[in-house]
Amino acid sequence: MEYLDQIIGLFSDFSNPKKRVFVGYLGLSVLIAFLWLILFQKTSLRTALARIFDRKVFFSSSAMTDYKIFLINRIFTGFISPLLLTQVAIATAVYMALVRSDLTLWGAYEHVSKPLVVAMFSVAMFLADDFTKYLMHRWMHRWPALWSIHKVHHAAETLTPITVYRIHPLEGVLYASRNAVAQGSVISVFYYLFGNTVDLYTVVGVNVLVFVFHVTGSNLRHSHIDIRYPRWLEHVLISPAQHQLHHSIAEEHYDKNYGAALAVWDWVFGSLHVSDGQKDMKFGLRDDEKHPATSLLTAYFTPLREIYDMSRATIGRLTSKARQRLRLPRHHAAERDAQN
Ligand SMILES: [Zn+2]
Ligand SMILES: [Zn+2]
Repeated sequence: MEYLDQIIGLFSDFSNPKKRVFVGYLGLSVLIAFLWLILFQKTSLRTALARIFDRKVFFSSSAMTDYKIFLINRIFTGFISPLLLTQVAIATAVYMALVRSDLTLWGAYEHVSKPLVVAMFSVAMFLADDFTKYLMHRWMHRWPALWSIHKVHHAAETLTPITVYRIHPLEGVLYASRNAVAQGSVISVFYYLFGNTVDLYTVVGVNVLVFVFHVTGSNLRHSHIDIRYPRWLEHVLISPAQHQLHHSIAEEHYDKNYGAALAVWDWVFGSLHVSDGQKDMKFGLRDDEKHPATSLLTAYFTPLREIYDMSRATIGRLTSKARQRLRLPRHHAAERDAQN
């Protein structure tokens, strides 16, 4: 029975409204895809259904790798999560630092009406989470060691809602730590300024803004249904087609659309690419990335080997620089002795 509970636990995200793959959100995503195909793409009912549940996508070798990585990562998460920094630990540390600081704002805004505080807190939590996701995602593409890790996600050649779990465990640890720091900091600052009036507007236990993101088809970002928004809206919110474009190997799409829910970060920092209606985008890694897309072993161990090689090369460079510096004074000393 205990084993059965553990196996069921691996799939608990499908029954958890805090997770993107909650069955309710998946069902709504299917409905949105269906309406998009019927109403905007003018396809027949039969074609729409065949397109949404395309066997070539869901049973591709890339998707099979996604499913295996999903299971392995769920097992890994069970072991690693008790060791990770939690929101509560960060919130407590920042709160104590604020209370002990010279700032005299402890409870300074306790008189502000509760609905306003709750609205501001809900928005701040959402913005902090979304902005730090943008930043970390951008760094994942820009820094070679982080790109080695993030390549596992980009090696997917077909996209399904499970591709969101296709990440190296190290990326999972980095994202969990980012989440703890971002949300823990917002919680502590709000408690420091507003006291006990702080609360979240929630639906089914989820921040209302996160809930809206999920019920409007967040799962379609990792899918082959290229839903586009009007051009102006794609400057504010990332459409499914825009995230699919982030996965495209076309050169003009490279290093674009790092945003999760909001596109404003990409717009402000110059990495926005609105969807261009391009059909049949090819997903995956460029030929020169040398990262076989469908092997489970390479997915887990190639990033580690690449980071090890990079560290060795960096240490080698630093050591030879240090040696040169140490040698220089001796050289000068020998010259001086010779002159004397
Ligand atoms: Zn990426
Ligand atoms: Zn993705």
